[in-house]
Amino acid sequence: MASDGRRRLLSGLWRPPFSGRSTTAILSVDAAGIAAAIDPTSRQRLASADFVKVQVSDRVGSIPRKLTFPDGSVFETGDNDAVDALIRSQSSRFAGLIHRLERFRPRLVLLVALVIGLCFAVYRFAVPALVEAAIVLTPPVVPKLMSRSVIASLDQAVLAPSELPPERQERLLQKFAALAAFAPRGAAAVEGNKPAAYTLNFRKGGMIGPNAFALPDGTIVLTDELVALSDGDEAILGVLAHEIGHVDHEHSLRQLYRAAGASALIMLIGGDIGSGTEDLLVQGSALLALSHSREAEREADRFSVELMHKAGHDPAAIGRFFELLRDKLDDKDGGGFLSTHPATPERIEETKRYVEEIVKGK
Ligand SMILES: [Zn+2]
Repeated sequence: MASDGRRRLLSGLWRPPFSGRSTTAILSVDAAGIAAAIDPTSRQRLASADFVKVQVSDRVGSIPRKLTFPDGSVFETGDNDAVDALIRSQSSRFAGLIHRLERFRPRLVLLVALVIGLCFAVYRFAVPALVEAAIVLTPPVVPKLMSRSVIASLDQAVLAPSELPPERQERLLQKFAALAAFAPRGAAAVEGNKPAAYTLNFRKGGMIGPNAFALPDGTIVLTDELVALSDGDEAILGVLAHEIGHVDHEHSLRQLYRAAGASALIMLIGGDIGSGTEDLLVQGSALLALSHSREAEREADRFSVELMHKAGHDPAAIGRFFELLRDKLDDKDGGGFLSTHPATPERIEETKRYVEEIVKGK
């Protein structure tokens, strides 16, 4: 092997692609790492490529090494030591390249920061947009199936049949139907002669104590314990109006979709509800039916004030119910409406302010 400056030269044979005929050739690798097979007499380039793209056969005893160019032509040489030296010199070139990349670390840090920023933007802006799209595109059968299975699992694990006297149930059902008729979906259901948009169900709460919750399809559950705690039907109706608010603002569905994350939402929007998504929807809705964000609670409170006022009831009922709960229950009562609907002073104050706003506005 010869070496002039940083150019390395090897002698051997060169064979064009798909040909058995070899000709004498010189392999030259220049300082830039370009390998070329050259005809020694005409100085004509027979093949050339960056050395990285040239495939070099492994060293096996004294068997000649094959250097295959991307075009399929092959340079063959018995000078095994020279080939090894060539590989070494070229690998130090790669090391140099990596070293150069490392020196540009600030650029790499910037790139990583950009990627993280992009992920955050997707989470911050794309997920809420996907949630809204999923809600619009959710076929009505999905919340219906979800609600049915949630009720079934709650009935099995927590709830028991109501022990409220039938006439008390009947009176509450009538008042509830009259109230729901003033809600956006209630009115539509009556006009279209469709099944009721909201249905009231009575249960003994057991572990969840005095409670009320709404499922995405408009199924509302009221526990005997909450009825027993209330000082009259107005307070109960205030709570039911609040639950209608959760249904109307699609709070359960929205919260569930938010928890599902972007990939599940994309599947859902695409109409591909795999078994994984299905499990998540059913189990997730069971957990989430009982808890909402503070923002969702405020929306439902305001909805209760508005709906009660529209239906000719006491708009302050929900606020008074919170005060009643606060006074009757102490902190030892872990479960119940208070655990998911904290009767904070701010919340009570805010409801009072909104009642004034609504009543004066009329
Ligand atoms: Zn609520």
